Formats: sequence, C-alpha cells, structure tokens
Amino acid sequence: MTMPASRVARPSTIEEAVRLLADNGPEAVIIAGGTDVVPNLQMKLFAPRVLVDIKPIRVLQGITIAAAGALRLGALTTLTEIVGSPLLQASYPVLVSAAATIAGPLQRNMGTLGGNLCLETRCLWYNQSHFWRKALGGCLKKDGDVCHVAPGGKRCWAAWSGDSAPALLTLDAEVEITGPRGRRRLPLAQFYLNDGMNRIALGRDELVTSVYLPARTAGRRGIYHKLRIRDSIDYPLAGVAVTLEVDRSGVCREARVAITAVNPAPLLVKEASEWLVGQRYSAELVDRVAHAAIRTGKPLTTSASTPVYRREMVRLFARRALEEAWKNGNA
Ligand code: SF4
Repeated sequence: MTMPASRVARPSTIEEAVRLLADNGPEAVIIAGGTDVVPNLQMKLFAPRVLVDIKPIRVLQGITIAAAGALRLGALTTLTEIVGSPLLQASYPVLVSAAATIAGPLQRNMGTLGGNLCLETRCLWYNQSHFWRKALGGCLKKDGDVCHVAPGGKRCWAAWSGDSAPALLTLDAEVEITGPRGRRRLPLAQFYLNDGMNRIALGRDELVTSVYLPARTAGRRGIYHKLRIRDSIDYPLAGVAVTLEVDRSGVCREARVAITAVNPAPLLVKEASEWLVGQRYSAELVDRVAHAAIRTGKPLTTSASTPVYRREMVRLFARRALEEAWKNGNA
C-alpha cells in the first residue's frame, strides 16, 4: 500500500494549474485535501507522473457573496468550514446537514468541497489493493475486461458515493470549471454523467474552481439522511437529500429530492417537484414520492450491503426527510 512515485507540482494560480494539467494530460492528477486521492494512489488505482497540488491557490478558498446575491464557495473550502459556517447554517441547512456526515472530523478538516464533488466512483471490486485486484484479473474499470457486478455488460456501475452533491442538487447549485479555454458554469445536475468510469463532465485539463448557490434557494428547509456501515466515518451506501419551501398555510411552494450512492451519479427524483408543489402534507403523498425515489435508485452489488436493503433505506430516508422538513422545518 505504498504511494507510487510522482512529482508534486504546487501551482499558486489557477492559470498555472491549468497549464500543468494541459502539459501532462492523463499523467497528471489533481490533489487538494487528498482524503480520496491518497488511498486510491496507495491502492494503485492510478499512478500519475505529476500530482498537481492546488492547495496553494488562495483564490479557491472561502465563502463569499457573488453577483445577484448568490453564494460562492471556493473549491478549496473545507468540509469543516461548511459545517461551521453560520451563513450556510441559516440559509442552506441541507448542505451543512450533508457535510456533517462526511467521513470523520479529521477528514473534514482536510477534505474540500471541490474534492468531494469529484470523488472517484466506488465499487467492492475496484476499491481493493493491487494484490487483491490482480488475483481477480481486474475489471472493466481497471486492468480487466469483465464487470463482476453485471457480467456480460460493457458498462461500469460503480456507485457515486458522495454526500455533498445530492444536497447541492436540491439547491440548484452550479459548478464553475476553468480550463485552457477559460471559465464555464454548469448546473450541477449536468456535471454528473451516470457512468462509473466516465463519471464527471471535467476535461483532463480542467479543474472545478467554485460552486454557486443561487439566492432563490436560500432559506429552504432541508435535511440529508445517510446509510453507512460505520457511523463515525464512512462513505454512503444510500443517501437522500430533501429541500422544501413551505408557505405559512402549510402549502409546499418548492421541493427537491435527490439520492446518492445507488447509481453511478447523484440524481434528482424528477417526480418530487411535480407532485409536491401546491400540495399540503399528507402521509400518502410522501409515500408516493418515497416510491419514486426507489424507482430512481438502481443499486447493484457494488458494496457490502445488499441492493434490496439499500433500496428500502432510500424509501425510508425519503419519507423521513420529507416529514421532518415539512413538519419541523430543518431537522
Ligand atoms: Fe468494475 Fe463492474 Fe465494479 Fe465497474 S461496476 S468497478 S466494471 S466490477
């Protein structure tokens, strides 16, 4: 479990980082907090010639107010900063709720928002030591030609296993990406490709520089629930984020439900907004949306838990989060 030999480059500007990425192509990997990249390097899941350490780029840090009242979170904002931010606690509680469940305090001190949005997808057959994988002959995603989850298929089903992305989906967040051709902004929903191998819409010579939360979603009630093996520190095996806007008379004015860890991408449950907006709380309605959530989730045997159990947990979490957000505000 040693690290492969790599040169570490420490750019101090975004332009310098982009140049390093463009010059080194597939031989370069971005590193920030390192909480996902370092274990993956130790498992020899990749062996880059250059590690581009973006931590010294100061403009990627911090939480600021941007144009039109949007909130800009620099890609290097740590998960601890998110959890402790009074602004986020007051205005975007679903993100705080999700970030607080990521790994343990030490990893949250190091781990960044940008890194959490760009995690590698995970699979029982992939996140193993080099020795373990070699004995098996690899798989489609790495060093092999068969998928052990769906044999005969040509697609990788490794699960998207991040917690902040579903929360940000329910806030209609956008990511800012910078590359040699300049900056572009993309709705977060379009950033994820639902493919275990080609997981995000990020070129080899690009990096995520910021996340924007629109002013119109500030103040929404929100909560995130997560299933994990070790409650103190673990990736999600299933997760549900909910945001609601409920008026004084108890009528839902806006609603989003997003799920994670049960597909190769975090996904919005499309029916949720359509069915909830304009309605008052009812147990039947919440049950219907929870059913739609399990139809959106397609868990396979990519983790130590069974697909049946994870589907049931998606249903339970969707129901619980909707009830809590509707009846109690932010839980
Ligand atoms: Fe490999 Fe299949 Fe798992 Fe993808 S889903 S990592 S191809 S075993």
